[in-house]
Amino acid sequence: MHEASLAGGILQVVEDTARREGFARVTVLRLEAGQLAGVEARALRFALEALAPGTCLQSARVEIDEPAGQAWCMACSISVALPQRGDACPQCGGYQLQPTGGTALRIVDMLVEDDEPIHNQERQPCV
Ligand SMILES: [Zn+2]
Repeated sequence: MHEASLAGGILQVVEDTARREGFARVTVLRLEAGQLAGVEARALRFALEALAPGTCLQSARVEIDEPAGQAWCMACSISVALPQRGDACPQCGGYQLQPTGGTALRIVDMLVEDDEPIHNQERQPCV
């Protein structure tokens, strides 16, 4: 499943960041999966939840924004809404469209927290 490998990639980035910045867990993970990114947000969430146990995403709330697709129509020289790749320009019906928005899958933001500083323990990376 496509979304499973994407989820693995996201988890990798989160864990690399956790190691670099020394936080223990993620409380909120905000992702952007544009309508043109070719990602099914629900499947991505499901894949992330399947991977989360035992990682710093274990107790994270995953929020996925799905910005609408946008494209530049070369014939009309305007920016138009593009709900799906392969759709025609709603203005002229042409196909000279260059996607400009809603194409990304990325991590927008993470809210993180450290372990409670009891016992003066060395901070453990979350992995
Ligand atoms: Zn057009």
